Amino acid sequence: MRKFSLLSILVLFIISSCKQDVKTATLAVEKGIPIEIATYRKQHYSQINYNLTFDIPERKDEKIKSREIITLQIDEISQPLIIDFNEKASYLKAIKVNDKPIAVTHEKEHIIIEEQHLRTGENIVEIEFDAGELSLNRNDDYLYTLLVPDRASTVFPCFDQPDIKSTYQLSLKVPSSWSTLANGVLKEKTEEGDKTIYNFETSDKISTYLFSFVAGVFEEVTQNPGHFDMTLLHREDNEERLEESTDEIFNVHQRSVTFLEDYTAYKFPFQKLDFATIPGFQYGGMEHVGAIQYRQSSLFLDKNATESRKLGRARLIAHETAHMWFGDLVTMKWFNDVWMKEVFANFMADKIVNPTFPEINHKLQFLTAHYPSAYSEDRTQGATPIRQYLDNLKNAGTLYGRIIYNKAPIMMRQLETLIGEDAFKEGIQEYIKKYAYQNADWPELIAILDTKTEVSLAEWSEVWVNKPGRPVFDYSLDTDENNLINSFTIVQQAEDGTNKLWTQLFDVAFVYDNEVKVITANIQGKQNQIEEVKGWKVPKDIIFNYDGIGYGVFPLQQENITAIPVIKDPVARAQSYLNLYENMLNGTVAPTEVINVLRDGIAKEKEELILSLITGQLQSIFWTFTSDETRNQLLPDLEKDLRKELYKEAAPNIKRTIFNLYRSLAYNQSGKELLYALWNKKETIKNLNFSSNDYTQLAAALAIFGHEKSDAILTKAVNDITNADRKKRFEFMQASLSGDESIRDTFFESLKAPENREKEAWVLTALGYLNHPLRASSSEKYITPSLELLEEIQLTGDIFFPKQWLNNTVGRFNTENAYNAVQTFLDATPDLNPVLKAKLLQAADPLFRAQKIKH
Ligand SMILES: [Zn+2]
Repeated sequence: MRKFSLLSILVLFIISSCKQDVKTATLAVEKGIPIEIATYRKQHYSQINYNLTFDIPERKDEKIKSREIITLQIDEISQPLIIDFNEKASYLKAIKVNDKPIAVTHEKEHIIIEEQHLRTGENIVEIEFDAGELSLNRNDDYLYTLLVPDRASTVFPCFDQPDIKSTYQLSLKVPSSWSTLANGVLKEKTEEGDKTIYNFETSDKISTYLFSFVAGVFEEVTQNPGHFDMTLLHREDNEERLEESTDEIFNVHQRSVTFLEDYTAYKFPFQKLDFATIPGFQYGGMEHVGAIQYRQSSLFLDKNATESRKLGRARLIAHETAHMWFGDLVTMKWFNDVWMKEVFANFMADKIVNPTFPEINHKLQFLTAHYPSAYSEDRTQGATPIRQYLDNLKNAGTLYGRIIYNKAPIMMRQLETLIGEDAFKEGIQEYIKKYAYQNADWPELIAILDTKTEVSLAEWSEVWVNKPGRPVFDYSLDTDENNLINSFTIVQQAEDGTNKLWTQLFDVAFVYDNEVKVITANIQGKQNQIEEVKGWKVPKDIIFNYDGIGYGVFPLQQENITAIPVIKDPVARAQSYLNLYENMLNGTVAPTEVINVLRDGIAKEKEELILSLITGQLQSIFWTFTSDETRNQLLPDLEKDLRKELYKEAAPNIKRTIFNLYRSLAYNQSGKELLYALWNKKETIKNLNFSSNDYTQLAAALAIFGHEKSDAILTKAVNDITNADRKKRFEFMQASLSGDESIRDTFFESLKAPENREKEAWVLTALGYLNHPLRASSSEKYITPSLELLEEIQLTGDIFFPKQWLNNTVGRFNTENAYNAVQTFLDATPDLNPVLKAKLLQAADPLFRAQKIKH
């Protein structure tokens, strides 16, 4: 106890009454975690420890009685203590602050403790409560927490923001047959009746979103694959998969740790590295400190799993292990930088895993996986920067999209190329060392890397990371009197008309009859003179971005586009197809000309990744960028060609890719006949084997193409499905396939009720059928009501649902009526939430462009 003199009390009173004014002006309690509250707490609260006890009953419908002691330092008392608890107030049973019981005040997802109960220095808050259920994932005999990004506060009261790192002492009381896994090492285990109490050591200092525990009936395996023991909890019961996978799971973790310790020059930073595999886990994995969770089916593979599935598994483990350094050791300050940890985890995973899978063309894989997807949003009026403003953690979901997943890795690879691999690695080592167990944002990393290069990275990052969009390149070439190159200049211009310039490197190939000469273009400003080629002969063709690491729209020689299918280098060939498509969208090449190149390419292509890219391009041009008339004219020949390809000798993966294209567009008589014969099993094609799912899809295609036996086909298709879940799914979407417009109308009406949108994947497929281009004239009327539902859909749906809803509604159209409907909606809704507006502009981009380039 401390004694105060009257004077000091008076002084305190004056100070606190002054601060009172400041308070009302600043901290407003709102739902979620607003940035203002987070900033204040980071400034004034420190040394936080959570002592947590959960008593988990055997039955999942019984409450989890819990107790928590939060210890923290507060450096000034000018605001009430705001602790996040996003559950009903009735879950809170009792609160004591510094040994004194107080009344529970719970407002807008927060516990509020008034200033009079607090003191500067150490404060102790004791809370009796029932654990919140939302993120506990309770199953019959196991449960696990998944608390990213702001869901720790749905389970227990805490300061739920990534830049307040804390320690945890956890105690779990569980049924005796259960196992457990937590962030800390197990300290002791005691029996109490039919329960076991697990007490864990104080955890490392971690962010709330990385706190985790798993408890339930699991098999436990411990191995030492190199440096230290690791423990795996799993529920796999297939002997073959266990035998094939168990050792490999431990070994890949070890290989990843070894690589990362070397790359970062920082020893494995936490007490332990254990993991659990969980059936039906929401993501591939989640990087909880010392207690990673994985989707069980991604780790336990059959003996005959393909190379690419094994690569996928290795990459997933390497990704989550990389997070121990990138995300867990050094953590973002706020979730607007969540992309950083994801990009680094993937970037490291590629470095760890790729060398062990030499038969896969990783550069080609990177190109086809990221570029089309990044461009699909970045070329639109709704493009967003990689790094965006985030006002409240409850809106963190709106940041996710193709820009984060696909443009950010492209940007990071450019950055490494620009700085050089070794200097980049040095910079990363400094960053890890400087911010270990703390938080850092993107500008802090850039400040370190900036010292490693001549290029001003702050400026570089301003354009690449803080702004949306991409450059469009052009060039000029002058020759002297001997027809040798005098000057060659590459010019860039931002596609959106602003004055942004993208500093970047990419290769340019000069193609001659007998050789291809490749130079690296170092693009620094608007005009870039390339000295190296001075005196060279004028080439037959110039292929920009030959190595596929540049970003933007590149010039092409119109007269040479027919040579794209025979470009030898697979990355250069894929990049040329990509660039051809972008040029078509910008109006430089006509859609029908591109279709001709793609048809030739499809007949020649042997690389599955490229074939899959160009069949996708053909499908989108066919349905979106050609008029009904042109399409009807093109189809007979195209269908005949593709059918010929189907009957040629080819590997199953090639055949499958071509068949997917065929099924998507063969709506003419002979196409329908072949599809019907395949569906009816009257016809088979060598190396093309159908699963029951394929038969369902064939039935759907026949219905959309208006086969005369559609009704009977759909009825048989439903009856043929034996799996109960899949049957339900098909029954759900049957109405969307109906040939009867009034049945389709009724189905669309039903989607206005949120309960009919719960199975989001089903809804999206059904919308795709409903709004198929062949049915545009009858489905245009759904556009306006679909858009009017948008705001409600964001409130009721998963984070990815609004964009996908738009892709499968406005994204399916190319008609003028559809265009007018979208414009009218935009004009009539000037106060549309900007995030949703951006998503609408992204999804409507093909529709907008079709008005200009459709032939
Ligand atoms: Zn990740």
